[in-house]
Amino acid sequence: MNMIVHPAVESSLIAAPVPVTIAHGDGIGPEIMAACLDILTAAGARLAPETVEIGEAVYRRGITAGIEPSAWESLRRTRVFLKAPITTPQGGGFKSLNVTVRKTLGLFANVRPCTAFAPMVATRHPAMDLVIIRENEEDLYAGIEHRQTDEVYQCLKLVSRPGCERIIRYAFDYARAHGRRKVTCMTKDNIMKLTDGLFHRVFDEIGAEYPDLEQEHMIIDIGAARLADSPERFDVIVTLNLYGDIISDIAAEVAGSVGLGGSANIGLQGAMFEAIHGSAPDIAGRDIANPSGLLQAAVQMLVHIGQGTVAERIQNAWLTTLEDGIHTADLYRDGLSHRRVGTRGFAEAVIDRLGRTPTRLTPARLAGQAPRVILEQPHRREPADKKFAGIDIFVEHRGTVDALAAEVQAMAAGPLTLTLITNRGVKVWPEGLPETFCTDHWRCRFQPRPEQPVDSATAIALAGRLAQAGIEVIKTEHLYLFDGKPGFSLGQGQ
Ligand code: NAD
Repeated sequence: MNMIVHPAVESSLIAAPVPVTIAHGDGIGPEIMAACLDILTAAGARLAPETVEIGEAVYRRGITAGIEPSAWESLRRTRVFLKAPITTPQGGGFKSLNVTVRKTLGLFANVRPCTAFAPMVATRHPAMDLVIIRENEEDLYAGIEHRQTDEVYQCLKLVSRPGCERIIRYAFDYARAHGRRKVTCMTKDNIMKLTDGLFHRVFDEIGAEYPDLEQEHMIIDIGAARLADSPERFDVIVTLNLYGDIISDIAAEVAGSVGLGGSANIGLQGAMFEAIHGSAPDIAGRDIANPSGLLQAAVQMLVHIGQGTVAERIQNAWLTTLEDGIHTADLYRDGLSHRRVGTRGFAEAVIDRLGRTPTRLTPARLAGQAPRVILEQPHRREPADKKFAGIDIFVEHRGTVDALAAEVQAMAAGPLTLTLITNRGVKVWPEGLPETFCTDHWRCRFQPRPEQPVDSATAIALAGRLAQAGIEVIKTEHLYLFDGKPGFSLGQGQ
């Protein structure tokens, strides 16, 4: 279980400059990073920065991960990364650097606060103040994709119980430690009953340990719609990787601007802080980007390394700048803003206001704070009783389903019998409908006859026989019972 610590006295922690790894990134990255570093230096942040190169230039040198080996050495040493956005090259052959860093360093929790700064920043939702806690390592971001047949491509969605447990516990601990009252879980478990179903079930299990917090679950589609329409009804949201990515852009945009959002990526081995927006190549090099998202990330970083007093000074100067109507182009509104500034001008305005406290916006209180949720290794449970229960053999086939069924059924000797054929998940045999459009990608499910035990070797041998008979076997998936319950879904229409 994670521990919650209450704000610590930071004096002992700020004696020496803290090594941090810094990357200036691509597009608007160098401009907004320079602005942030000027503010951090002027505010008295005690940092020993190590600059590393990541992104486009590194990709162009043929390093498909977008990060030099020397950058990993720095990250391993400092364990704190302030990262400007980078441009991910289009096309195959390149891996997302952000995903690689998060996964390699085990940064499992992505924490994205989205707050309205009304009336200084125009928004239809002035009371909005929520935090999205996004699972950062699993789901469709495992990056395991295959073209399996001429027509069909696949992306694997991987969700683990320890992964669900640690992000959901983190969300509850975060809510409790930050005085939040409600945690909302968003999944699509009406469709993905095993993967998203696990996330929902773990939410209910762990939620039972937090009776002091209000809890609710929403299907992600209605959850995203309500978030866009009435974000003030949410407090802490915990969700899977892809949904979290999408809804945090929605939340940042309805709060005022995607340029305002900062995020922390937290793990046992370190932490990475970044703006939620990308490298905005459309406005790069023009001194018009808003550095606030990266600055908000840097403020979270300062709290993380025990420099809450500096974080508070910066946050209050930043709020005062917004309050004084000094806005970058993305926030500027006639009648609301007083002065339109560029990236550098905004940084100078924040620096000029260091030491001031906002009078209309709620002042930040970060002095003396340290990270309030202390992490522990994920808990591993005793394995369930696992029994082999059949095999799904995926094949490429261009003929009719009846021809395929006759061909594979004839080879299913022994305890295994053909029970189902699906095409893109829909049952097409036995008793399929002629209306169903079928691709060249078929799943043939073989299960043992009642009371006939079967082992995986028998099933694999069957796949081998199909391949030897000239059937294009593209993959197999074993079926298991866990403590007597099926660990596999039925075909749609079954
Ligand atoms: P983007 O977030 O870069 O830009 C979306 C829109 O928001 C653009 O109109 C842009 O001008 C505006 N915008 C973004 N940040 C702003 C700021 N600070 N101030 C003012 N306006 C701002 O998204 P995109 O255009 O889809 O992606 C551009 C590149 O960024 C892509 O290569 C993408 O892969 C990459 N990206 C990187 C990260 C990251 O490094 N963490 C995150 C998202 C996207």
